[in-house]
Amino acid sequence: MASVPSHAQVVIIGGGIVGCSVAYHLARRGCTDVLLLERRQLTCGTTWHAAGLVGQLRATHNLTRLAQYTTTLYEGLERETGQATGFRQVGSIAVAASEARFEELRRGASMARVFGLEVQILAPEEARERWPLLSTEGVVGAVYLPKDGRCNPVDTTAALARGARMRGVRILEQVKVTGIRTQGGRVTGVTTEAGEVRAEAVVNCAGMWAREVGALADVSVPLHAAEHFYIVTEPIPELTADLPVLRDADACSYFKEDTGKLLVGWFEPIAKPWGMTGIPESCAFEQLPADLAHIEPLFAAAMRRVPALEAAGVQVFFNGPESFTPDDRYLLGETPEVRGLYVAAGFNSIGIQSAGGAGKVLADWIVDGHPPFDLWDVDIRRCAPFQRNRRYLRDRTVETLGLLYAMHWPFRQAESARGVRRSPLHEHLRAAGACFGEVAGYERANWFGTPGTEPRYEYSYGRQNWFAHSAAEHRAVREGVGLFDQSSFAKFILRGRDAAGVLGRICANEVDVPVGRVVYTQWLNERGGIEADLTVTREAQDSYLIVSSCATQTRDFSWLCRSIPPEAHAVAVDVSSAQAVLGLMGPRSRELLATLTDADLSSSVFPFGSSRLIDLGYARVRASRITYVGELGYELYIPTEFAPAVFDVLSGAGAAFGLRLAGFHAMNSLRIEKAYRHWGHDISDEDTPLEAGLGFAIAWDKPGGFVGREALLKQRAAGVRRRLAALALESAQPLLYHNEPIWRDGRLVGKTTSGMFGHTIGAALALGYLENHAAPVTAEWVAAGRYEIEVAGERFPARASLRPFYDPASERVKC
Ligand SMILES: Cc1cc2nc3c(=O)[nH]c(=O)nc-3n(C[C@H](O)[C@H](O)[C@H](O)COP(=O)(O)OP(=O)(O)OC[C@H]3O[C@@H](n4cnc5c(N)ncnc54)[C@H](O)[C@@H]3O)c2cc1C
Repeated sequence: MASVPSHAQVVIIGGGIVGCSVAYHLARRGCTDVLLLERRQLTCGTTWHAAGLVGQLRATHNLTRLAQYTTTLYEGLERETGQATGFRQVGSIAVAASEARFEELRRGASMARVFGLEVQILAPEEARERWPLLSTEGVVGAVYLPKDGRCNPVDTTAALARGARMRGVRILEQVKVTGIRTQGGRVTGVTTEAGEVRAEAVVNCAGMWAREVGALADVSVPLHAAEHFYIVTEPIPELTADLPVLRDADACSYFKEDTGKLLVGWFEPIAKPWGMTGIPESCAFEQLPADLAHIEPLFAAAMRRVPALEAAGVQVFFNGPESFTPDDRYLLGETPEVRGLYVAAGFNSIGIQSAGGAGKVLADWIVDGHPPFDLWDVDIRRCAPFQRNRRYLRDRTVETLGLLYAMHWPFRQAESARGVRRSPLHEHLRAAGACFGEVAGYERANWFGTPGTEPRYEYSYGRQNWFAHSAAEHRAVREGVGLFDQSSFAKFILRGRDAAGVLGRICANEVDVPVGRVVYTQWLNERGGIEADLTVTREAQDSYLIVSSCATQTRDFSWLCRSIPPEAHAVAVDVSSAQAVLGLMGPRSRELLATLTDADLSSSVFPFGSSRLIDLGYARVRASRITYVGELGYELYIPTEFAPAVFDVLSGAGAAFGLRLAGFHAMNSLRIEKAYRHWGHDISDEDTPLEAGLGFAIAWDKPGGFVGREALLKQRAAGVRRRLAALALESAQPLLYHNEPIWRDGRLVGKTTSGMFGHTIGAALALGYLENHAAPVTAEWVAAGRYEIEVAGERFPARASLRPFYDPASERVKC
């Protein structure tokens, strides 16, 4: 066993392609005091047996940027290091065997153009011209990405390792990390079989072992291994070395030329989780037993698409493990539990194509102390602590592998491992016809069908089966009164004599307000980017209630805790589970509430932006006049065990007012009409409040300033070159979701960030950034343009506005 140094600035655990890429990029950033420890041999985990597909189009712009970077990196790596990588830019073709799949591909192609990728739509015959062994039976169309490539994963890893070593990185094989040392919430080093190494940063790149390695520091790394299959045929004479990679997602299959043979791999709908009791110690260059019964139907589907397979003998049946995460996105970044401990793992069978980009941005993150741009899609802080639960992971993994090639329907919900977190009102909502969706394990009513029935999604790109139900919920909120169960909200208390000072420093808005005031605010980073979007209620002189979203619970709480200086007298507590939240929203909400409380609800006593404790039924609840739907309304914060009774009295009294239960799809439609932003879609840590049109929530001159102020001052002086705008299609169809290209006077100026049909406005709506490189974006510039939004390759006329289409003066909210 090699001896280990006593110290390294950064220790990387794991010598797969990802660990080697992180090492390589750290060195390129000038951080060369790096030690990579591999328990056996480089690539012995999952990397050695990957098929080597290197695609570029991902679900979001930034993930696509990373995949694009990977391609560029691999293209030049051999020149730089002298180590061959086998990288070839052969392109890829994805065929569609249904109209819906073709729409998915064409929507993807429109998105690809926004991201700057070269993409062509092909007729079936054109696809066959490029891929002569293809059967076009049932093929509706195809998409061709000429810059996609393929590589040899082992050689590419060797090249990254060589590039790292050339710059001074130490790579030691046969050294297993057995412990992670921490002190005061910060990493201090690792324990290995060969001794201890002190370190300022530790990076967990342990592939399918990463969950167990995370557990060494009591950190959640939710991933689980699954068996993953491909075959390699005997040589097929018609195959040429420049053949593009072929994907037929409807047949769950991909095809790659491999030294004159055909490699055929699958993403089956029902996968086989592996390693339920932990990854065996002996696991290195592991091959699992071939399961012919499992792959037989997949093989049959592949043969229908490529009939030459029928005659070709099979040389290799390969089955190897790969790790999958609960939402099919990898896990990247600094862990919320331990400072200085980073993760890059859970690559869901795209680790080869992701490694270049992921390694680069993680190296930037480590060196600079923050991610280089918005990486929320893959940020490990999106995970809830319960998600490390092994049984949950195993059950979810059955589904996640296949989702890579399944239809990526809008609003698609996971079907496995459901019912993890339920509101205290869950059964009430279910009985009332709720169709639930899931966020971070939380079951939330998305829409209501007919009471007593089992409502189910019927997916499509058009108006889905819940469209009319959701429209009725929307109208009830606009015209009468609706009730939302918002219990999934994240809720934190910050208490102590320094609470106002601590919060004042991280909130861009003024929060040193009288007790009983609710403040809408952002938390910013030093660059002025929006880290969180939330409300802060001063409950007492020394106590604040902070409310943010379910999806950002871990991230926001971590940001809050890390913002409390050690000497400050302020304690943060996550009270999300202690309180249910009901949103009583609509012009008749006050009338209804007045029948159940003796509190004075008049606007002069209880205006918009205020919050007070009131009696409601037999309970005492916090009522806050605040809204995410753009109407008069109250968020009711109710101690959990009181929630069912409060729900019952509201429902009982509500009958006389036409009270209607409403779900999150209706809320989304209502909030987009009002252009309320959604963190994670419309705003992120790379967007500033000035770009997002949230300048009204900045208290520029408050005493003590706030984090991000200096960056915002500079931006205000220079003027912003991109602005979030509200957009509406002029035609009734199609529907908008997000990432659709926006054209202004025939020029591409941006993309949508979220979309929904607006039932009051009567149009497909979206929010999206408009960019003007020549000059600041002003209301006049926006008004002067002629807009189109591109959907599946077709452009549809639209209008754009910096003000909301619905109630721009907020008269309905403040009445
Ligand atoms: C059949 C198959 C086909 C695939 N095809 C493709 C493809 O075409 N394109 C694509 O992009 N991706 C593909 N993948 C996925 C890709 O192989 C993986 O995502 C990628 O290899 C993951 O790399 P990694 O570095 O995260 O993990 P690994 O390669 O597993 O590396 C982790 C390393 O950590 C080491 N380690 C673990 N614990 C410790 C410890 N305590 N101390 C020290 N070292 C430790 C392990 O020994 C291992 O070497 C495929 C996967 C499979 C199974």
